[in-house]
Amino acid sequence: MQRSWKDLVAEIVSRLPSHFELRDVLKYERELGLYYPNNSHIDAKIRQTLQVLRDQRVIAFEGRGRYSKINAAKPQFSPLIDFTVPLNITSRAQVARLVLETWAEFNLFCLNCDADSLVRLAANTPVADFECGVCEARYQVKGKDGRFSSVIPGAAYQPTIEAVRAGRCPDYLLIEYDRRFSTVVFGVAISGQSITENRVIARAPLGATARRAGWIGCTLRIEGLPMVSVVEPHVVDPATVRERWAANPREPT
Ligand SMILES: [Zn+2]
Repeated sequence: MQRSWKDLVAEIVSRLPSHFELRDVLKYERELGLYYPNNSHIDAKIRQTLQVLRDQRVIAFEGRGRYSKINAAKPQFSPLIDFTVPLNITSRAQVARLVLETWAEFNLFCLNCDADSLVRLAANTPVADFECGVCEARYQVKGKDGRFSSVIPGAAYQPTIEAVRAGRCPDYLLIEYDRRFSTVVFGVAISGQSITENRVIARAPLGATARRAGWIGCTLRIEGLPMVSVVEPHVVDPATVRERWAANPREPT
């Protein structure tokens, strides 16, 4: 069984004392790198992971790189997704990918069995990017700031068509977030079985100046496909809203 990032991190946290520092976690950078040899951003990923663990109420931040464990309870689902974490990555797209990927590793789960986490596949895996470590169901996770339209970006065209023909199309998890409020708003799942060949549209090959010149991606038409809700906006009760309203300054701050 493959080990998920969530499991690896849970093991590390269990080895740490009740109060620890960022550098205590960064000591495991090499060890974690062995499980993720293709990931050149382990340091950034560890920092992002601590953020998610805080949102899930596994640890608390005490400032100046100091943390404490809250309890040994199971991590709570958290819609918080913070893109402002300082990471030593400059590409906005790369930051978005890393932040979404880390959020997904701790908050998403297998839909086909009761596994509570998904394993990130190697970056060069065609078509899918996550796998269930137990039942091997494969997923492609897509994120968007705002709502998805009736087409979503797919992977490389040819491998996608081949996967559809062979009945090996992964299931899609579409995560819609709102960057302004650092929160995931909706998440839906679409079965890979519902994607037919005529829904896979080739894109124009990437230009000669692109890093992957000549690469042909695809888009997927998803209108009319059955979807299952995975994440829904949480409800705020009227009393809490009124409290916030009463405390809301009437003047600009
Ligand atoms: Zn599974």
